[in-house]
Amino acid sequence: MPLLVDKVILVTGGTRGIGRAIVEKLLEEGARVAFTYRGSRELAENLVAHAPDRLRAYQADVTDGPRAEAIVGELIREWKRIDGLVNNAGITQDNLLLRMTEAQWDLVLATNLKGPFLYTKAVLKPMLSQRKGSILNISSVVGLQGNPGQANYAAAKAGLITFSKSIAKEIGSRNIRVNVVAPGFIRTDMTAELPAEEWKKNIALGRLGEPKEVASLCAFLLSDEASYITGQVFVVDGGMT
Ligand code: NDP
Repeated sequence: MPLLVDKVILVTGGTRGIGRAIVEKLLEEGARVAFTYRGSRELAENLVAHAPDRLRAYQADVTDGPRAEAIVGELIREWKRIDGLVNNAGITQDNLLLRMTEAQWDLVLATNLKGPFLYTKAVLKPMLSQRKGSILNISSVVGLQGNPGQANYAAAKAGLITFSKSIAKEIGSRNIRVNVVAPGFIRTDMTAELPAEEWKKNIALGRLGEPKEVASLCAFLLSDEASYITGQVFVVDGGMT
């Protein structure tokens, strides 16, 4: 039995990597899925062509609050509800702190932390009136442990964890759940330049993770099978930490 039949779920950053795998998995589990992207229009259109009746794509920078509100409004008008949100869109701008520019700091914090704040606010009203919802924030093991050269990214991803735990406490009584998934080293465009062989030595399973190995946990957490799980952080890192 598919896990997410008839659920309406919004995913930020759905064109590539982990976000794309999440969109595909949610679709496979029976959901109607809307996803955003920043620039990859062609990838977005090709993905929608797989299931035009159950997929919608929106060009939107996650740092644009009014656009987030407009997308959620459009979804509610068309599909009448919103059951889930996955704050997945994220970027890195790595540099040692001495060389890190204010612009690199600001861009990473705006995309990886303010973006989830804006999208969470946008879905909150409809979820509150439905008295049901599930929000997933994609953090990182770097948000738990830190990583040299990624102080901006680590701060944003750590902030996302306590943001999620706080919101979980605020809205738990309305039956809205908020959880965090913290992936390790997953094979995507984001990690393409990193020295995989070096990292593998510290991964118990001895390999990088695949995006779909993150997506399967996300589908479960968004489903009613996870109805008593909120405010938690789930690490998917092949035993790296
Ligand atoms: P990718 O770089 O492969 O994909 C990023 C996605 O986010 C794309 O769809 C991109 O859209 C979208 N995006 C980026 N910036 C914005 C923006 N400002 N507004 C809207 N959409 C945006 O990343 P991953 O799949 O690797 O990462 C996904 C999430 O997982 C991120 O939050 C990342 O921090 C986290 N993560 C990844 C890990 C990994 O090992 N890969 C490990 C731990 C966490 P477009 O295609 O249009 O550019």
